[in-house]
Amino acid sequence: MTAFKTILPAASDAGAQATTLGVMGGGQLGRMFVHAAQRLGYFTAVLDPDVASPAGLVSHVHVQADYLDEQGLAQMLRRCAAITTEFENVPAGALATLGAHLPTAPGAEAVAVCQDRAKEKRHFLRCGVDCAPHAPVETEGQLAAVDASLLPGILKTARLGYDGKGQVTVRTRDELAAAWDALGRVPCILERRLALAFEISVILARGADGTTVELPVQRNLHRDGVLAVTTVPAPGVDTALAAQAVDAARRIAAGLHYVGVLCVEFFVLDEAAAGARLVANEMAPRPHNSGHYSLDACDVSQFELQVRCMTGLPLVAPRLHAPAVMLNLLGDLWFAADGTERTPAWAGVLALPGAHLHLYGKSSARRGRKMGHLTLTAATPEAALAVARQAAQILGLPAPG
Ligand code: ADP
Ligand code: MG
Repeated sequence: MTAFKTILPAASDAGAQATTLGVMGGGQLGRMFVHAAQRLGYFTAVLDPDVASPAGLVSHVHVQADYLDEQGLAQMLRRCAAITTEFENVPAGALATLGAHLPTAPGAEAVAVCQDRAKEKRHFLRCGVDCAPHAPVETEGQLAAVDASLLPGILKTARLGYDGKGQVTVRTRDELAAAWDALGRVPCILERRLALAFEISVILARGADGTTVELPVQRNLHRDGVLAVTTVPAPGVDTALAAQAVDAARRIAAGLHYVGVLCVEFFVLDEAAAGARLVANEMAPRPHNSGHYSLDACDVSQFELQVRCMTGLPLVAPRLHAPAVMLNLLGDLWFAADGTERTPAWAGVLALPGAHLHLYGKSSARRGRKMGHLTLTAATPEAALAVARQAAQILGLPAPG
């Protein structure tokens, strides 16, 4: 891996090349990274095959190429001083190629662990962090040998799953066999379905020198496997549980020699449940949807932390300056009950005090597609929740909390 040195933003065009930060992937996370980098005076380059990618549209440079395209990667190497990624399914090979010449945060090896649920779980256990009981399903033999205690369970593809895609709930062995067929018999993990009290996440930033800072712990509500609501401070999370989650996330990051922003998702089980109360679910080698509130509710956002990690700038612990509730805005909001397209009632939402609307500039709305998010901040957690309820009602979303 190429060594990290401090990269400061330059004041003139002459410095453009030395102070261009590159991001692999042009989705909304890349777009918010670009905004943060530009605010600090850096130039940006985005590699994404889509001509209208949300990040490509706002970056100084958009290298329109596939992630493994040699010329595209060469252009990124020519233009950039350091590289990061905005989604974990960038081929680890592309990051390895870039990492041979430029500082990349995170590195290819860390991303490779996050790309594969089996490797990820092995890593959690190696770091002394509990995860759901599970078994690999990659062969007929493994399918037949699955322990009955893992049912009812969730069969998940080992790779390329996101937002609940590539997952099937199974109650019986017959359903398990059918589900593996339906997933194309690709390598999978069967996890026991746990009774969750609720879900939380820890987002940390780790510098090349091992310095680590975290956002406040988030509490997350998923609907149909997709994040719907994030609440901070996290209700029901006392100091001891928060410290336990942060400590686990730090060990997971340190074990990967991680540099950059990392999110670890956890399940919190009922206190009455036997065994561990805190269970690691999965991790993402990048800023995370559950940290979007930090743009409006913290003095340093998760995207600025990513910029600071890759440029060797100091990491300071972000301070929450307002309790916040974040509502995800999926493409469904763009369709009326009869299926016709519409524009959501933004004016009504923006009339609410403490409403911060972020739209990602996607070219078209589709059901389930992440189109934007709305963060509601207020002086107290109760007031933030109350205004989030009003916003949800205006938009036609289920009530949060
Ligand atoms: P994705 O990569 O799609 O986010 P996750 O593994 O995080 O996949 O699963 C999505 C959601 O499904 C989780 O946030 C949780 O709500 C639910 N879920 C996943 N695994 C389990 C499990 N073993 N027990 C109970 N709920 C689960
Ligand atoms: Mg998840």
